[in-house]
Amino acid sequence: MIIDCHGHYTTAPKQLQTFRDQQIAGLKDKSQRPTSTDLGITDDEIRESLEGAQLKLQRERGTDLTIFSPRASAMAHHIGDEAVSAQWSQVCNDLIYRVCKLYPQNFVGVCQLPQVPGVAPKNCIPELERCVKELGFVGLNLNPDPSGGWWKEPPLTDKHWYPIYEKMVELDVPAMVHVSASCNPCFHATGAHYINADTTAFMQLLTADLFKDFPTLKFIIPHGGGAAPYHWGRYRGLAQDMKKPPLAEHLLKNVFFDTCVYHYPGIELLTKVIPVDNILFASEMVGAVRGKDPETGHFFDDTKRYVDQLTGLSAENRTKIFEGNARKVFGRLNAVLKDRGIN
Ligand SMILES: [Zn+2]
Repeated sequence: MIIDCHGHYTTAPKQLQTFRDQQIAGLKDKSQRPTSTDLGITDDEIRESLEGAQLKLQRERGTDLTIFSPRASAMAHHIGDEAVSAQWSQVCNDLIYRVCKLYPQNFVGVCQLPQVPGVAPKNCIPELERCVKELGFVGLNLNPDPSGGWWKEPPLTDKHWYPIYEKMVELDVPAMVHVSASCNPCFHATGAHYINADTTAFMQLLTADLFKDFPTLKFIIPHGGGAAPYHWGRYRGLAQDMKKPPLAEHLLKNVFFDTCVYHYPGIELLTKVIPVDNILFASEMVGAVRGKDPETGHFFDDTKRYVDQLTGLSAENRTKIFEGNARKVFGRLNAVLKDRGIN
């Protein structure tokens, strides 16, 4: 089985955006607030939104299962207060749940959290528990910067975040460290803010000893780990200067990278630098980059092709990247699949 550990519902029916628009209008004028969380989306509309997009691409590219979460750029935790964020997260997560119910062979859920800038992340625990225990989700997207590009929260290693980590450990769910939209004009969302955040998160983890407090906590740093693998020597050297243990011991029992690097040389470097046990296959389709690479004639985000092209990879290691590592990092995944009759 080929598991894509990073996909978002970027093609959701338009009623979802209408709901969000009403929420935003309601911030200024209460009469505009949505009156119901029932979006009026039919199962057929959900099918239609996926059949020509994610499902078509799964079939064409030969992947099987996508670990699927709400559209990341639309999380927009900076908009509204706790009540708005809670309602928005619930609506988005419920839609992912419906996708997973309609296509149990193709999708497993990961949730968005109702984070709010300046509010303790422990406010997210009820929604996390609901998604894991009631909806059968296997992970969460954790936004290290709910301000949307202004970086107002303490680093991920601060005790500010500990309640959510305690719950993650208890539930055995990993977090993908994933920012959302950028409100800072200096940072393009997917081209700069995302990659900055990946790099920033890695460095935050490097400077502290979070995993001494949480030895089983797991993070996936998406988009190939941002700049970290490319500058691995710098990070190894910085860790050494800071008297930290070697990175393999200091971080790599807990930190994983995905393969959302949209060209072959990037994947080649990733697999040369990062131990194979720390790499999870992902494409982030449909979303970040939608076009075809004129140099190859294939879609930039068809990342399976790049992994397939790696010549120095043993069959065993290829299976780890495509399947085995995801089953390990997402501790609840095997049980969820077994419940669905999938081995
Ligand atoms: Zn993403």
